[in-house]
Amino acid sequence: MAFNSADTAAFKNVWVFCEQRQGKMMPTTFELISEGRKLADELGVELCGILLGDNVDGIAKELGGYGADKVYVYNSPLLKDYTTDAYTKVITDAVEEIKPEILLFGASNIGRDLAPRCAARLHTGLCADCTHLDIDMPIYKNFLREASTLAEERIEKLGTVKINGQDHDVSRDIKMTRPAFGGHLMASIFCPRFRPAMATVRPGVMKKREFCADCAEKVEILHPAFELSASDIKTEVVETVKAAKKLVDLIGADFIVSVGRGISKDVEGGIKLAEELAEVLGGVVGSSRACVDAGWITADHQVGQTGKTVHPKVYVALGISGAIQHKAGMQDSECIIAVNKNENAPIFEVADYGIVGDLFKVVPELIESIKAA
Ligand code: FAD
Repeated sequence: MAFNSADTAAFKNVWVFCEQRQGKMMPTTFELISEGRKLADELGVELCGILLGDNVDGIAKELGGYGADKVYVYNSPLLKDYTTDAYTKVITDAVEEIKPEILLFGASNIGRDLAPRCAARLHTGLCADCTHLDIDMPIYKNFLREASTLAEERIEKLGTVKINGQDHDVSRDIKMTRPAFGGHLMASIFCPRFRPAMATVRPGVMKKREFCADCAEKVEILHPAFELSASDIKTEVVETVKAAKKLVDLIGADFIVSVGRGISKDVEGGIKLAEELAEVLGGVVGSSRACVDAGWITADHQVGQTGKTVHPKVYVALGISGAIQHKAGMQDSECIIAVNKNENAPIFEVADYGIVGDLFKVVPELIESIKAA
């Protein structure tokens, strides 16, 4: 029977696209599997990974350790390197065949390229760059609450309603949340009429579960038959070149010392102080976008809505005002320490410890006292 994304009742289970490069799983995949586990538990369905590559069975079990029940593995030399054509074909064919209800991708370069292409082929919706996912009351119930005279108990009990002649289960839906209007509000997005509901999720936002070795042993690995030939692929990967300079690993860091425009009177000196403080803490240097835009530091250091989302054990903000777009990337840190000479700076609203003062005086004292401790 022809695939119909509007036949929502035919879809089941939560899927995560498991991104690997050169046979190594990307950290975002484990975050998504962990988050997918929560959604699958709430829906009472299975969590499945979809893994594409060449001889990647060896890394499939790891996914079970983070919560996957099953992994669909598609091995082929044609899938060794990522190409939009090949990956789109295999994923969309698999979705048409097996029909997952929810399909998640990391908002990495590959995910941002692949997910929209798959969504268009599947005639479904995609919510890009999500920062939060939950199973929630679908929009229809909220609409009914506001627009109808139906009693709350009757709305609560609603299971299936007809929309454009199709039956839709309105007792549950996935709510996808993402920043909108430059981060000034958080938008809740539903995709109630089409399946799978698809989302890309920002790396570093979802927390990875503890690895469970027993679960990794129990995960079911499946190899569905699939068709892919060289003629399906219009691009050829000639060479993969590694970035010459090692980029700063903000997402994996426990301690981050970030600089803002407050270092402007001595940029070099300010960055050096941040590096020294990061070194005594065993952490790395981050920054606000103001410093990146000014060319004082490279873009891989940027924290915030258009940079990285981090949740280290300790985040130190030096001379950063605390604009909403910066806070969007760091406010879930376990402990926030802010140094700012303006006692009304918004960064103090999210700080656990605030020091009002000139960073060029405060930071050397901080470094000395940490060294002495
Ligand atoms: P400022 O706002 O200029 O603050 C400098 C602070 O330093 C002030 O609070 C000042 O009191 C303090 N200060 C000055 N001198 C000293 C001193 N000697 N000692 C101590 N304190 C001092 N921003 C991001 O950071 N990340 C993003 O991802 C991001 N994405 C954006 C996306 C969009 C769509 C838009 C519109 C904006 C985005 N921004 C982002 C920019 C954001 O709005 C702010 O402009 C930016 O965060 C400001 O950086 P800042 O705090 O370093 O500078």
